[in-house]
Amino acid sequence: MAEYDRGWNTPARNAWQKARKLEETTLVAWSKKDRAWSVPSTSTPGKWYLVWIDQSIPSHRPWWERLLCSCPAGEANRMACWHRARVALHWRREEERSYRPPS
Ligand SMILES: [Zn+2]
Repeated sequence: MAEYDRGWNTPARNAWQKARKLEETTLVAWSKKDRAWSVPSTSTPGKWYLVWIDQSIPSHRPWWERLLCSCPAGEANRMACWHRARVALHWRREEERSYRPPS
């Protein structure tokens, strides 16, 4: 079971559900310059938030602890905003794409 399936809390679950719902209509882009992913704001069209990894958090911790976000909710506290969830979902898709069944 992947790390982001463990220890769900309500904000994380809600954020994940929103990310799933918006998956088809939102793009996650890696910004080399910022060393962060950018995720579009749903409330302010044209605005993007940056999501990056907090290197002080061990990699086995879940995404809502490992990721930081530049959105107002993200800056105020370590809330599991949907931007973080969107990046975690992006990771999962990458993982699924690279998966090869044993032959
Ligand atoms: Zn955010």
